[in-house]
Amino acid sequence: MVKKRGASCPYCKDYGVIKIGKRKNKRCIKQIFFCKLCKRKFTIDDGFLKVKYEPNIVKDALELIKDGLSLAMVQEELQHNYNMTIPRKTILYWSHKYIENIGSKNNNNTVNRKEGYSK
Ligand SMILES: [Zn+2]
Repeated sequence: MVKKRGASCPYCKDYGVIKIGKRKNKRCIKQIFFCKLCKRKFTIDDGFLKVKYEPNIVKDALELIKDGLSLAMVQEELQHNYNMTIPRKTILYWSHKYIENIGSKNNNNTVNRKEGYSK
């Protein structure tokens, strides 16, 4: 498996993109990328497009959620560890995905159904 980091081109999905600059907004910084394959420029917006975070960050976030930390606490923790602010919306999204996974696992397991009637 080839491990590739960073952004991929939204047009051709190629990872051969380079950073060519940043555009600063009031609220966020947009990274401008250039795709070497299709020669197009694109930006990655913090809020709307799917932002790819390091798998480690997602994993950490989920660990913290599992530990019962609130979104705000998880956010703070990640800020300390990775020096980046991850929108709570994003953390919430991760946790929903995580809970969905748990749910589907439980659905396959019907063993617990009759418990409580054994006395
Ligand atoms: Zn491209």
